[in-house]
Amino acid sequence: MQIPSPIEEFQFNNLNFKVKRDDLIDPFISGNKWRKLNYQLAEATRLEKNHLVTFGGAFSNHLLATAAAGAKFKFKTTAIVRGEKVDNEILFFCAIFGMNLIFVDRTAYRDKENLFEKLFSKDPNAYFIDEGGAGALGQQGCENIIHEINLPISNVFCAAGTGTTAIGILKTLQSKYPESILHIIPVLKNLNLETQILNSIPDAKNFIVHEDYHFGGYAKTTPQLLNFIKKFTSTTGLIIDPIYTGKMFFAMFNLIEEQKVKYDENFIAIHTGGALGSLGMRNKFDF
Ligand SMILES: *Cc1c(COP(=O)(O)O)cnc(C)c1O
Repeated sequence: MQIPSPIEEFQFNNLNFKVKRDDLIDPFISGNKWRKLNYQLAEATRLEKNHLVTFGGAFSNHLLATAAAGAKFKFKTTAIVRGEKVDNEILFFCAIFGMNLIFVDRTAYRDKENLFEKLFSKDPNAYFIDEGGAGALGQQGCENIIHEINLPISNVFCAAGTGTTAIGILKTLQSKYPESILHIIPVLKNLNLETQILNSIPDAKNFIVHEDYHFGGYAKTTPQLLNFIKKFTSTTGLIIDPIYTGKMFFAMFNLIEEQKVKYDENFIAIHTGGALGSLGMRNKFDF
């Protein structure tokens, strides 16, 4: 695994910017999913539990990361997958890594603690990891993203699903780079991230949640977003996906273009990975 992840320079729309390539940490344990698993695996080991049980949708980057990390670090893995039984590229890789897949309907899926209790109360080795790797240990892992940076940075951009990554980043950023600003792009509607951030970091400052770049909601897209992704990837060589990082990079360039942020050479985007998860979106593109 490539830790610390590299930082690379790119140019797009005649602007130079840096990218923290967490997508290069591992092909399957991708991006922020490794950051979020890191300390949870250590905790499972400390508790002598060798069976990771976690949750996600059928194209979840987190399920794939858990499957791959489990195989690499000698854990048994089980995924509770939301919805009816399906087969796709992500679940195929999960299965190859040895993950046991249990499909549950959307109603039952909602109560994860209850499902865990019901299915695994007799397994003393079972270790609960929340959907997406969310939680305090997940946040702690994401603090390392900024610990690994030793360059001048002015504005940091990251996509948010649960917000775990953004909160971890903000914690380190505030102490290490007190002059810099974190721009958070929620990829779903009504995440209420600002409240969540202030609950986790009472003195949180120097962050902006940009609510206008979800493109209709989680995994929703528009022709404008898809065209941006095609243009961005074909001119930079950097794969971005329509669910997370595509929305983040779109927002970054849109905010610069509309002069809502003041551009300089020290912009850095956190590439949180997710290339394979975007296979679930490939029929949205018309090539
Ligand atoms: C899961 C994921 C996110 C969201 O991270 P949160 O910590 O849940 O906000 C962002 N980008 C990619 C590529 C992801 O797979």
